[in-house]
Amino acid sequence: MATLKASEWSDITGHMRVNFPDLVRGWFSTLEPRGLEGGVLTVGAGNSSQVRYLAKHCRRPFVEAAQAATGMLVSVCFETDNPEPAPSLSLSFEQEFPELTLNSDYVFENFVTGPCNRLAHAAAIAVSEKPGRAYNPLFLHGDVGLGKTHLLQAVCHTIQTREPQQQASYISCETFTNHFIEAVEKGALNQFRYRYRHVGILVIDDIQFLAERERSQEEFFHTFNTLHQAQRQIIMSADCCPSEIPSLQERLVSRFNSGLVALMDRPCLETRMAIIRKKAKLRCIEVPEDVVKLIASEIKTNIRELEGALVKTDALSQTRDGIINHEIASEALGTTMNNHMVTIPSIIDRVSVHYGVRVSDLQSRKRTKSVVFPRQVCMYLGRELTKHSLGEIGGFFGGRDHSTVLHSSRLIKEARESDPQLNHALEEITTLLIRGQQTRGSL
Ligand code: ADP
Ligand code: MG
Repeated sequence: MATLKASEWSDITGHMRVNFPDLVRGWFSTLEPRGLEGGVLTVGAGNSSQVRYLAKHCRRPFVEAAQAATGMLVSVCFETDNPEPAPSLSLSFEQEFPELTLNSDYVFENFVTGPCNRLAHAAAIAVSEKPGRAYNPLFLHGDVGLGKTHLLQAVCHTIQTREPQQQASYISCETFTNHFIEAVEKGALNQFRYRYRHVGILVIDDIQFLAERERSQEEFFHTFNTLHQAQRQIIMSADCCPSEIPSLQERLVSRFNSGLVALMDRPCLETRMAIIRKKAKLRCIEVPEDVVKLIASEIKTNIRELEGALVKTDALSQTRDGIINHEIASEALGTTMNNHMVTIPSIIDRVSVHYGVRVSDLQSRKRTKSVVFPRQVCMYLGRELTKHSLGEIGGFFGGRDHSTVLHSSRLIKEARESDPQLNHALEEITTLLIRGQQTRGSL
C-alpha cells in the first residue's frame, strides 16, 4: 500500500486544527495514517467509539484536509484494530431502536469536580461501580451546559469497560419517545418493550422531554417499574428536579425522587479555571494562567460556552503566530465581555428603592414578610441577569444556601407568569438595571 509522507500527514492534522478546531479532540494525536490506496486514505484510530465520532463528524473535513495536503482527489476512511465486543441484544432490535453514540471524551478522567457537582459526580462513580445497588434511580438535574450528559456517558463508558455484559443503554428521552411513537405506528410495541425492558442499565438524558406527553409517560412508567423491580440501574438527567417537570404524573415524580436526586450547579471560579486547564490539555492547547483566569472570569454560567471561548481563542491565535496571550483572549471574548454587566449589588440597590426596604435588611437573615418577598425578587433577578452560581448569589443574602436561591427564584418566576402587576414591575426594574449599566459603561 502506498504511504503518505510524514509532512503530508502533519499538514492534514494541522489543517484540521486550524480550520476545524471545534471538531478536534485530544486523542487526535494518536491517529495514524495507515495508507493511501486507490484514492482512499485510511486513518487508524484507537477504538470503535473514536471511529464512530470520526465517521459521523469529521469525514468531510478530513477529505478537505487530505486533498489540500496531497493535491490529489482522495477520500478518507477510518478503522480500528480494537473493535468493541458485539452487543448481545438481538441485532434487529438494535437496528430498529438504535442507541446514541457515546462521546469518547465524556469519561470520568476528563470531568473536573468542585462544590457545584461533587455530589452528582460521587453518585455517578458509585453507580458505575455498583449498578443497581448504590442509588437507584439516580437523577441529575441542572441548567444546560453543566455536565449532565458528560456524567451520564462517563457511567456508560466505565460500565462498558468494566462489565460489558451489563449492557448499559444510553438514550435521549427524545429518542425514547420517538421510538415509542414509531413502534405504535408500526405495530412493533412488543419489540420496543423487549428492547427497553431488557437492558442491564438504562441511562436516559433530558427526561424533562416527557413533559406533557401522556402516553410516553405511561410507557416509561412501566419500563421504569420493570427495570427497577429487577434491580437494574436507571439513571436520568433533566434541566429541573422531578417535581418541576411540567405535567409529570405524580407516580413518576415519586419514583424519580425515590433514589438520589443531585443538583449540578454553576461552577465557581476555581472550578471553571480547572475545567479550562483540563479542556486545553485535551485539545493540546497551551494556555497561560492569566488567560485561563480571564476566560474563567468572563464566562460563568455554561461550561460549553467556556469551552467555546477557549476554542475561539485558539483559533484566533492560529491566524497570528500561534501563541495564546491575554490580548488575543480579550479579543476573542470581546463580544461576550460587553454582555454581562448587571451586578448583584446593583440589583439589591434597585430592588430596595422599588420596594422601599433597606439594603441591609435585604442582605440580612430577617424573615419578615415585607423583606422576604423583595429578597426573593433579588435572587430571581440575580439568576436571570447575572452569571453567578446559586451559592454565590446566596452569599449576598446572609449566606443562604443554593436550595433557598433556587426555590426563591422559581417562586418569583411562577408568580410573574400569573401576576401582570409583578411582571410589569420586574420588567421595569430590569430595564432600569440594564440602562443604568449601559450609562455607566459608556462614560
Ligand atoms: P449538559 O448535558 O448539562 O447540558 P454537557 O454534559 O453536555 O452539559 O456539558 C457541556 C460541555 O461542558 C461538555 O463539553 C462537557 O465535557 C463540559 N463539562 C461540563 N462539566 C464539566 C466538568 N465538570 N468538567 C469538565 N468538563 C465539563
Ligand atoms: Mg445534556
